[in-house]
Order: sequence, then structure tokens, then C-alpha cells
Amino acid sequence: MASSIGKVVILGTGGTIAGTAASAQDNVGYSAAQLGVAQLVAAVPALAEGSIEAEQVAQIDSKDMTLAVLHRLAQRVQAHLDRPEVAGVVVTHGTDTLEETAFVLHRVLHAHKPVVLTAAMRPATSLQADGPQNLLDAVSVARAAGQGGVVAVIGARVWAGAELRKVHSYRLDAFSAGDAGPLGWIEEGVLRAVRMWPAAQGLGVDALPATDEAAPWVAVVTSHAGARGREVDALVAAGVRGLVVAATGNGTLHMQLESALRRAQDAGVQVLRASRCAFGGIVGDSTSGWPSAGALTPAQARIELVLRLHGHTAAP
Ligand code: ASP
Repeated sequence: MASSIGKVVILGTGGTIAGTAASAQDNVGYSAAQLGVAQLVAAVPALAEGSIEAEQVAQIDSKDMTLAVLHRLAQRVQAHLDRPEVAGVVVTHGTDTLEETAFVLHRVLHAHKPVVLTAAMRPATSLQADGPQNLLDAVSVARAAGQGGVVAVIGARVWAGAELRKVHSYRLDAFSAGDAGPLGWIEEGVLRAVRMWPAAQGLGVDALPATDEAAPWVAVVTSHAGARGREVDALVAAGVRGLVVAATGNGTLHMQLESALRRAQDAGVQVLRASRCAFGGIVGDSTSGWPSAGALTPAQARIELVLRLHGHTAAP
């Protein structure tokens, strides 16, 4: 019988890792979130070699992620981390909003043990299904890490939750940490770590609004050729409280959009700039006077602004 020492709890939330298609050759026309977490665990017999517990927290395509699901997930992860017999928690998730969930958990959890997110770019029915190996690797990392923090394990690499971004829409190798690179690799079940995991920031689950309705409204606008800023005026008139600008290059803004953002700021709306570039973020001190989200992606910067407006949270 498996020992209860070093128990790993696997929390299921849906995604392609739990997706099915009518044909094993179909890697795009599938439905996400069809298999329960118990079925994902059963598909990897090697998981039975250790102590495992599985719980279904949600069953969604992560494109439809809500703050209610994120809040519940954060609560369940924290509750399991606080159990003495639990060594770590693994979360199965969709890839589309994984960078947001990873960032949320990094900001709010007291993750004194490993929290390992995993996902798949192919449904469970695919000839190329990557979910089973990713799940096994995630559990191995949760057992072997010996340190706390929020990470993602996908494609045999370990990424920091705070740095994660999806950079490819189709390839199995879809994730990156921007310029930061991976924290390590998982090879034949063995973790080869090359740098320390960033510590989770422990704001507490209540730093996160419990529902989208309860959250301050934060929208993302993009700076681009031909920008006019009218969407900013419309959002302010409709009651938006925060705006993330996916800025060009190193955080630059089209002058028309910048004028509209100044009007928004004068009306009390908080503005945060992120770069729309896949790598690099916003480097250096801003001379523009607009606050910078640094290396965060626009989607992560949006979460950050929600946290700040909800609880007047200080910048990380
Ligand atoms: N739409 C899916 C999801 O995010 C994509 C995936 O998991 O790869 O749930």
C-alpha cells in the first residue's frame, strides 16, 4: 500500500489535458474539459506508486476562466498545502489562461510547499497526447522539489509561475518564461534545477476578489498603428476603474491613445503599462510617467491591477 508520507494532491480544473476529440488525428477540433481528474490519474499507472489524492475543483475550458474559479482554486490549494501529510499540490489546467492562474497563485498563496501547474497542448485522445507525461512530471516535481513556490511543468521544463507565458498557439513546446528561461528540467522523473524558485508572495486568498462581479473592472487596451483612443473614452464613460495598456516595444504609447489615457487618469482611472512584445517586458525606469508592469504580460498585468484596486496592494 502506498504510504501517506509525501502525499501529492492533484486538483483538476479542465482544459485540453482533459479534452477529447472524435478522432485521434484531430488536434484542433476537440472539446476541452471532458475527462475528470480521476480519469487523468487512472491513465498514468506510474502515479499509483506514490500517495495521490485527486479532487475536481472545476471543469472548464480555461479560456472561460473566472475569478470565482480562481478564488475557489486558490482556497483549495491553500487548504491542501496546510495539511501536514501533503508534500505538494498539482493543478491540471488549460493552457490558454495558465499564465494568469500561475501569476494569481504566485501572488496570493502562502506556498511553503510546491504548487505545480500542468497542462497539455493535445487532447487526451490524440496520437500526440502530452498530458499523461506532463502530469507524471508535475507530480515528480511536486515530490522532489523540496521548496515552496508556484511553478508550471510542461514539456519537461519547469517554469516560474510569475514568469510564465504562452508563446505558441499550437506547438507542444508552447510556453516560455521570457528572458528568464526555465527553472530547470525534468528528465526521466529526475528534477534538474538550475536556479532557485521565486518565493510565492503570500498576499492571502482574500486579496483576490471572490467573483468577477465583486472585482474592480479592469480592461486591456492595445497601442497600435492608427490608435485613436476612443475605446478608452468609452470605457471610462462605462465605469472602468483600471486600464492595462499593451504598449508597443519598450512601453511606448501612440500619442492619440496617450491623450485618451491622460483623460482617463484625470477621471480617476488607474493605468498600468505592459509591453505587447513576447520577450523583454518594459526595461528601465519610465521617463513617460506611466507606471510599468515590468516583465508581466498584459494579461498578468491585468490581474495585478485587479489585486491592487481590490486591496490597495503594493506593487511586487
Ligand atoms: N482552450 C484550452 C484551455 O485553455 C486550451 C488548452 O488547454 O490547451 O482550456
